Amino acid sequence: MLDSKIEGVTVLDGTGAPGFRTDVGVTGEAIVAVGDLSREPAGTTLRASGLTLAPGFIDIHSHSDWRLWANRRAESKIRQGVTTEVVGNCGFSPAPVNPAFREELRGFALYLPEGMDFSWQSVEEYLNRLDGGGLALNVIQLVGHGALRVAAMGFARRKPTESELAHMKRLVAESLEGGAWGMSTGLIYAPGSYAETEEIVELSRVAGRHRGFYASHIRGEGANLLNAISEAIRIGREAELPVEVSHLKAAGRPHWGQVKEALALINAARAEGLDVTADVYPYTASSTTLRTLLPGWVLEGGVEAMLQRLSDPATRGRIRAEVEAGRTGGENLAANAGWDGTMIAYAPSRPEAEGKRLSDLAREWGQAPLDVAMDLIVADRGKAYVVLFQLDEADLTVALADPHVMIGSDGSALSPHGELGRGRPHPRSYGTFPRVLARYWRDQRLLSLEQAVHKMTGLPAKKLGLKDRGVIRVGAKADLVIFNHKTVTDLATYEEPHRYPAGIEYVFVNGRLVIKAGEHTGSLPGRVLTPP
Ligand SMILES: [Zn+2]
Repeated sequence: MLDSKIEGVTVLDGTGAPGFRTDVGVTGEAIVAVGDLSREPAGTTLRASGLTLAPGFIDIHSHSDWRLWANRRAESKIRQGVTTEVVGNCGFSPAPVNPAFREELRGFALYLPEGMDFSWQSVEEYLNRLDGGGLALNVIQLVGHGALRVAAMGFARRKPTESELAHMKRLVAESLEGGAWGMSTGLIYAPGSYAETEEIVELSRVAGRHRGFYASHIRGEGANLLNAISEAIRIGREAELPVEVSHLKAAGRPHWGQVKEALALINAARAEGLDVTADVYPYTASSTTLRTLLPGWVLEGGVEAMLQRLSDPATRGRIRAEVEAGRTGGENLAANAGWDGTMIAYAPSRPEAEGKRLSDLAREWGQAPLDVAMDLIVADRGKAYVVLFQLDEADLTVALADPHVMIGSDGSALSPHGELGRGRPHPRSYGTFPRVLARYWRDQRLLSLEQAVHKMTGLPAKKLGLKDRGVIRVGAKADLVIFNHKTVTDLATYEEPHRYPAGIEYVFVNGRLVIKAGEHTGSLPGRVLTPP
C-alpha cells in the first residue's frame, strides 16, 4: 500500500524532457512508483487531472538563514513550491562564530530574529540547532567568507596575516566537514570586500578539496561587471572548484546590455572545461542593505564603528563628498540606481519611510538624500534595506534564456504575519518561481515549460551534486510541487509584497504534504541536507 498517490497528473521530470500524463506513488520519503497506479491502494489519493507535477523547486540563491530561524514554516518559499533552499550566500552565514568577535558578527548579520544568539561556534553546531527545531523545507548551507573573515580578524581592512589566513583555511575545512556545501563571497560587502583575489583563491582551494563549490556575489555588477566575472572565473580556475555567479545582472543604465558579454565570458570558461554557471531572479529591481551604499572604509572595525563615524559631522562630510564623486571604493549603488530609483524597503524604526524613494523622502524631510540614508542606517543600526530600480528587462531575458542560467530568488522565507510581514521587501521572496512560469513561459514563451522547470530543479540539482532530488523517478526523494499551469502566477508587487502566489496547489517535502489545496499544513518534514 502506498502512502500517497497522485492520479492523472502531467509529470515534468525536471530534466527538460516533455511532460507525460501518469500517476505517481509515494511511500515514506521516496517516489516508489511512476505509471498506471489505478489498482494500487493508497492512504491518500490526490486526483490531479489538469495539474502539473514537477520536482520541488530548488532555490539556488537564498538568504533565509536569518528568517528561517523565526519562520520554520518557511511560508513565502514553500508556497512558491520551493522544497530546498541554498543559504549562506553573498558571504553571510550565521556560523562559524569566534566568541571574541561575536558582536561583530551580530552587526554583520542581515537580520536578527529572536533567539539567534550566536551561542554556537562551528557550522556543524549551528546546523544541529537549526535542524533540531524542524523545518518546512530542506536547507543546504554555504559558509560565508564574510563570516569567516569576521571570525579570524573582525572587520580589519587589510590583508590577513599568515596566521589569520591559516585560521580561515582551518575554518573552511571544518565548515565543509561540518555540513557546508561550499563557500560564498560577497565582494561588495565589508569585510569580504577587503579581501584580495589571492585570499579567495587560497580559501576556495580548501573548499574545492572538500568537494565544495564557490558561489559569489561578484566584486561589481555595474561598471566593474566584466572584471568581476573574470575574477570569479579565475578563482574557479586557480582553486579548481565549480563556480556559481550569483544573481547575474548589469546594474545602472550606463551598463545595461552587458549581461550578454558577461555570459560570453562564462560560456568561454565553460568551453575551457571549467564548471561555471549563474543564477538570476525575474525582476528588474535588486535589493540589499542600505549601508551598502557607503564607501567601504566606513565599515572598518564593524557596525559599531560605522555608527560612530556616522554621528560625526566631519566624517559625514567626507562620505558625502566621496559618494557624490563616485569614489566609493567599490560598487556605486547611489549612482547606479539614483536617489529616485532607491526605495526604502525596511526601516522598522521609521516605518513611514518604507515604500518611499530617497528623492521623495529628501524633499519631505528637507534633507539631502544621502543624509536621509545615513540617518536611517543609524536608526536601525545598519539593518535597514533598500530596493534598487536599476536593471533592464532586456538583460534579464538574455540571462533567463541562457541554458546555463538557473533560477535563484535572492530572497528570504518571509510571512505576511507578525515581525516578518513588516516593511516593503522585494517581492522576489514571495514570487520568484511562479513569476518565471507565468511571465516567461505562459505569457512570453521565452522558455518552454519544461525548460523553465529544469532551471528550478534538474539544473541546480546537477550543480549541487544532488542525486536524489530535482528529478522525478522511482527512488528519488518525494520533494514535489503540483501546480495549475493555467493559473500559476506571482501576486507580490513592490507596493504590496507580502502576497502569496496563486496556482501552487500541493507541495510535498520528503514525502509529506506541507501545502495542501493551497494551504500550509503546519508540517515540518524538511531537514538540513548533508553534502554528498
Ligand atoms: Zn548578493
